[in-house]
Amino acid sequence: MANHFTFCTTLWRWRMRSILKRHLIPHHIWQSITERMPVLRELDAVQMAHLRKMTSWFLDQKSINGAQGLEVTLEMKVTVAAQACLLILNLGVEYFDGWIEVLLYPGAFRVNHTQVDSMGVIHNETSILTGESWLRGPVILSWDNVERDAYYCKAGHNVVLHEFAHKLDSLNGVMNGMPPLRRGMSLKRWSDTFYEAYNELCLQLKAGESAYINHYAATNPAEFYAVLSEYFFTAPDILKKFSPDVYEQLALFYRKPVSQ
Ligand SMILES: [Zn+2]
Repeated sequence: MANHFTFCTTLWRWRMRSILKRHLIPHHIWQSITERMPVLRELDAVQMAHLRKMTSWFLDQKSINGAQGLEVTLEMKVTVAAQACLLILNLGVEYFDGWIEVLLYPGAFRVNHTQVDSMGVIHNETSILTGESWLRGPVILSWDNVERDAYYCKAGHNVVLHEFAHKLDSLNGVMNGMPPLRRGMSLKRWSDTFYEAYNELCLQLKAGESAYINHYAATNPAEFYAVLSEYFFTAPDILKKFSPDVYEQLALFYRKPVSQ
């Protein structure tokens, strides 16, 4: 087993080295794009160098395509991939296993969903979305919103972080607000903490009270985790105020020191 693990690790390192040798994003391009992104300001030089490698891996392994005639430039690809990889910077690229494509629309896009209710009645619903993450399928994003969130950051809003947090959540086959936790983390502690904070938010909103965070988080536990991940990276102080315990669990998961 140990030998197999060593072989896999060695193979993975060799593969990563080979990708970086051929496709490492040129420094001047990386610098000119990422220095304008507020969400990355907290990273030090070592972390930025690591993020550049992860982003290069992403661009080699995933496919970012335009919809409705949108021409996807390298700047757009790096803008999406760098933010997505921020989520897995300390987790590993295997957290983005099981899917290939990112689809970029020029702006918000229309989707039609068919749902069957508990009585067996079929409902067709049309929604206008800025992002969508399919289970084992593509991530779909509105470039307008990606650009706004990346370069003109508004606390608690980041469509890329939101949709790719859903990807982490869906790794175990279902989107339920429970991504595969890292070794050493307590499943019970995570569940109890998130359950309590989610119920508290729902009760606050039901009572007509204002909440610290985006009300969309109260949609269901999967959205709760995705929205709180947005706050974790873009507005940690607001998240700490809302729930220090959820902040602590997310810090353990994303491997970010709690003191930051
Ligand atoms: Zn969502």
